[in-house]
Amino acid sequence: MKQQKMTYSFKTESLKKTYVSGETQVHALRGVDIEIPSGELIVMLGPSGSGKSTFLNIIGGLDQATSGHVLFRGQDLAALTNRELTYYRRENIGFVFQAYNLVPSLTALENVALVTEIAPDPMDPMEALEIVGLKERARHFPAQMSGGEQQRVAIARALAKQPEVMLCDEPTGALDSATGIVVLKALMAVNQKYGTTCIIITHNASIAELAHRVIYFADGNVSQVKINESRKSPEAINW
Ligand code: ADP
Repeated sequence: MKQQKMTYSFKTESLKKTYVSGETQVHALRGVDIEIPSGELIVMLGPSGSGKSTFLNIIGGLDQATSGHVLFRGQDLAALTNRELTYYRRENIGFVFQAYNLVPSLTALENVALVTEIAPDPMDPMEALEIVGLKERARHFPAQMSGGEQQRVAIARALAKQPEVMLCDEPTGALDSATGIVVLKALMAVNQKYGTTCIIITHNASIAELAHRVIYFADGNVSQVKINESRKSPEAINW
């Protein structure tokens, strides 16, 4: 029988993270073994404190595991020097956080261009703004934009360097439902058009219906992985 090789963006093996402060130890990750297939839109759900952000920060090269391995397309992140880790983040990972982190004195276009200047193979910043539906707002400053628009600029900024993966930690956490839906549509467009693996952490269980795959965290472990047979559109979910 012909064996099918699964292509994955990430594979973790016995991934553990323990935070130590004084006498106390917090076991944020207790040995996570999981594969994140390439090109999927993945939603991570789980109670607050279950380890989702810790997991995202470690696979994104922002934090280091206590033990275990993260393989990014076969490359063990623990084997990278600090300098290599910087290049790893810069070239492969687009981050989107709850806080948009735009530079207030720069226009939307200039905020996106900041990133394309240091990326090896960037797309035109205007094209990135077009994907998120903000071409007409390119010359506006963050203060002249709504929260949802600012978050879409942040998505365009992350996308413009053409990363393999977008890591999104509560991207709609500060937004109302109508605005959140527009932001999710932008992420789905990125996933669909460029095949970018998108991992989205959320508290909102209904967002899971948009995903190819839902990964549930509980108490520092993955408790369940669910593959959606059919996916809803952002307009069809109950926020
Ligand atoms: P989630 O994203 O699911 O809410 P986190 O990954 O943020 O969970 O946190 C997992 C656990 O690790 C929590 O108990 C949290 O308090 C703890 N934790 C996270 N970051 C730190 C840190 N820098 N120092 C100490 N404890 C931390």
